[in-house]
Amino acid sequence: MAKLKVLYTERQIQDRLRELAQQIGQDYQDRSITAVVVLKGALFFAADLLRLLPNPVSVQFVELKSYAGTESSGDVRIHYWQEEFQVGGRDVLIIEDILDTGITLDFLVRKVEQMGARSVRVCCLLEKPARRRVAVQAHYVGFILSDVFVVGYGLDYEERYRNLSYIAQLEDGPGPA
Ligand code: 5GP
Ligand code: MG
Repeated sequence: MAKLKVLYTERQIQDRLRELAQQIGQDYQDRSITAVVVLKGALFFAADLLRLLPNPVSVQFVELKSYAGTESSGDVRIHYWQEEFQVGGRDVLIIEDILDTGITLDFLVRKVEQMGARSVRVCCLLEKPARRRVAVQAHYVGFILSDVFVVGYGLDYEERYRNLSYIAQLEDGPGPA
């Protein structure tokens, strides 16, 4: 059995989400937000965060693949993108689980910009600044991590652990990401 070390409890996550929602609500005022949720990792984060936002919100899902095992391949492909999904003129808030090398988010931010969004911002549950390979900025970040591999609250290791209500380091799993 893999050993899990809890880094952020359910309580800590939910408290931080309330702070993020307040900040986002202030920044966007009463503007509508088009949330682009990156599957599958941001599933629970988005569900909890979006319910705390006072703004009118529409939700879209995308699924991107850039990861094999625990190593970022640098090659991003769209797995799912709803055909009629348009972001032209919209204020888009991308919701992602982790900003790691930045390759995935860089790809998505560019795509949404090319599609004519009025504004694009990024909201990440976690960020690993030490791992960044591409200059992409997250406007809202839940927690800053060192170079450790984490699971839970949406994040998986080979599709396991997503449904944990907390975030944990996988100690004897894949090792540092
Ligand atoms: P990037 O393109 O920024 O390198 O990769 C971001 C993606 O890598 C995340 O959306 C996530 O799927 C995956 N990832 C990066 N670090 C971790 C980690 O510590 N744990 C898990 N489960 N996934 C990670
Ligand atoms: Mg992901």
